[in-house]
Amino acid sequence: MELRNRNTRQLRPAMCYSKIKNRHPASPSAIIIGAGFAGIAAARALHDASFQVIVLESRDRIGGRVCTDYTFGFPVDLGASWLHGVCNENPLAPLIGRLGLPLYRTSGDNSVLYDHDLESYALFDMDGNQVPQDLVVKVGEAFDSILKETDKVRQGCNEDMSIQQAFSLVFKRRPDLQLEGLANKVLQWYLCRMEGWFAADAETISLKCWDEAILLPGGHGLMVRGYRPVINTLAKGLDIRLNSRVSNISRHHDGVRVTTESGATFVADAAIVAAPLGVLQSKSIKFEPRLPEWKEEAISDIGVGIENKIVLHFEKVFWPNVEFLGVVADTAYGCSYFLNLHKATGHRVLVYMPAGKLAQDIDKMSDEAAANFAFMQLEKILPDASPPIQYLVSHWGSDINSLGSYSYDKVGKSHDLYERLRIPIDNLFFAGEATSALYPGSVHGAYSTGLQAAEDCRMRVLERYGELDLFQPVMGEEIVSAPLLISRM
Ligand SMILES: Cc1cc2nc3c(=O)[nH]c(=O)nc-3n(C[C@H](O)[C@H](O)[C@H](O)COP(=O)(O)OP(=O)(O)OC[C@H]3O[C@@H](n4cnc5c(N)ncnc54)[C@H](O)[C@@H]3O)c2cc1C
Repeated sequence: MELRNRNTRQLRPAMCYSKIKNRHPASPSAIIIGAGFAGIAAARALHDASFQVIVLESRDRIGGRVCTDYTFGFPVDLGASWLHGVCNENPLAPLIGRLGLPLYRTSGDNSVLYDHDLESYALFDMDGNQVPQDLVVKVGEAFDSILKETDKVRQGCNEDMSIQQAFSLVFKRRPDLQLEGLANKVLQWYLCRMEGWFAADAETISLKCWDEAILLPGGHGLMVRGYRPVINTLAKGLDIRLNSRVSNISRHHDGVRVTTESGATFVADAAIVAAPLGVLQSKSIKFEPRLPEWKEEAISDIGVGIENKIVLHFEKVFWPNVEFLGVVADTAYGCSYFLNLHKATGHRVLVYMPAGKLAQDIDKMSDEAAANFAFMQLEKILPDASPPIQYLVSHWGSDINSLGSYSYDKVGKSHDLYERLRIPIDNLFFAGEATSALYPGSVHGAYSTGLQAAEDCRMRVLERYGELDLFQPVMGEEIVSAPLLISRM
């Protein structure tokens, strides 16, 4: 199939190498590796700018770490489920608004728990006793004060250290902030939630960089109908080759050749690598020539954390009508967090969400063992709990298509690495959540890097052929703004 742009100049598709005889030197074409939010955003933008685009995706589905499952008869997100930053500045807001997708806001700005306000919750100790709300609020204030003190620690030392080390230093300087007994357990729970935000343990998170990313205003909104409609809309009409695992990318002065595991070869003017950082770290994609050292360092030095979801579907609701349930313990590792989807969506579902080392350990379990483990945590606090009728378990850490959940700043490493990962090399462009210095680890971050990579790619390819004026800018269409539909309680 061939397309013509407005100037009736003939364009040629990115296509299977074997089919190409005389490749037109000025054919603007691009191959996108990975059909997650970044890859699909890039493909959509280039397609709309009259490029010939092929998306190569290793899985049998699009979406990547956005994965809405319908097994229960209603949507449940096994990957991303919140829009972080319910505001018009969010790059995804126009699209979500236009689709009329409802959001259930779980927090406003500046919540100490990131995605939840302390309005609607129940925390329990291991014996099933509910923690008094005023204690939870008080410990939240203490947690905030400790974080402020860690900032002083940061100002006062050149060397980076982990969040955990910084906490220990703060306790030495300010013994009044050290908590005992139940209060300490609640503090561990706050730490556990912070670890959930970064998908990493406090002992690995950088004190210097942990708060470098931008948190958009407007709080956090759960996508009540799941993220799937958004990615489906973006992907409409694109040439996406599923079950196409890229194993080799070689760049030449006049283009890029991409080979899949099955041996299919594709050529184009440029390629956008939108595979997850975990996959790049595994070196399962071979780059020829080898990527420069600074790029390889960026790949290896950004942290990839793990967070998983164990989704439990029950016959009836036996838990309190709150947004989330928690179990406090002596260590952050021992704490638990259950998101109550019944509150937001009306479905009888609790989502257990371990992160860091705990998620890594659970990642190795069978689905059944993981579901049993999650249910055991629930039974500790609600002895009358009846077992789930269905469950779903994610394995983002061991899935070879992701090899991790999302990126974070490791101790001793610079936040500039995200930008270095993004910087193009010749006709090879990079996109994905881990290339977003502003919004790493998020769907809107992945989306905006896809758009940026597409624009950089378009400029580079067209500049080269002196045809810059002939094509529409990426995302040049007028975006009609529609209000976000937000509910609460
Ligand atoms: C459990 C969990 C909860 C999360 N919660 C939220 C949330 O609430 N809100 C939020 O904003 N973000 C959240 N995130 C993060 C968010 O999902 C990601 O930041 C975002 O979806 C990443 O998009 P991406 O396009 O960069 O990567 P991906 O979505 O991973 O896309 C990369 C694609 O590349 C494909 N691929 C891999 N290897 C190859 C290969 N060799 N060849 C071809 N294709 C390949 C993959 O299959 C995948 O489809 C969460 C993530 C997880 C795992």
